[in-house]
Amino acid sequence: MRNFVLFGPPGAGKGTQSALLLEKYHLKHLSTGDLLRSEIAQGTALGLEAKSLMDQGLLVPDSVVIGMIEKLLDDHRDAPGFIFDGFPRTQAQALALDELLKIKGESIQGMLALQVDDEELLNRILLRGKESGRSDDQDPAIVRNRINEYNRKTAPLIDYYRGQNKFYPVQGIGSIEEIFSHLCRVIDSI
Ligand code: AMP
Repeated sequence: MRNFVLFGPPGAGKGTQSALLLEKYHLKHLSTGDLLRSEIAQGTALGLEAKSLMDQGLLVPDSVVIGMIEKLLDDHRDAPGFIFDGFPRTQAQALALDELLKIKGESIQGMLALQVDDEELLNRILLRGKESGRSDDQDPAIVRNRINEYNRKTAPLIDYYRGQNKFYPVQGIGSIEEIFSHLCRVIDSI
């Protein structure tokens, strides 16, 4: 199995690039943001709990997202590998992911970290909010909260993966095709 964490702040292009990567490498895409939005759309209790936090730009509790990932790994035992998008976002999630994969005799091959500066991120997110109608992309105060959550709780994961020699920075500015080719070059070299 080939398992990669596609990493980066909100608006870095993780969703866009995941769609291209899974087509080329035939990997299964696991986006906790998409899973949570689907729970909200279905009106489940989990969705209701998550929505109030997501609407404020805050992270959903670790236990909720770890439970979702555990179930999906079980549901897709035959997948040739996974692209984790938007997960892990905290140290507890990274540790849980390593444990869950270890039980299956698997591991993460690399954290592909898209590098985009803050100003570009804010512009991209607000544009995406206009185009997609995603409520947490439309309000600059919520977007700022999400970037703060990223800087406080998620960015430290770079050190976690660097400590395992799995940190691969990738230039996240340029055309979609250019960024995709940077990512492919890194994946092919791992
Ligand atoms: P995303 O689509 O990845 O930008 O996620 C949208 C929102 O869902 C985030 O702002 C969080 O509120 C929540 N979320 C998604 N993934 C996670 C995660 N791994 N841990 C905690 N909260 C998450």
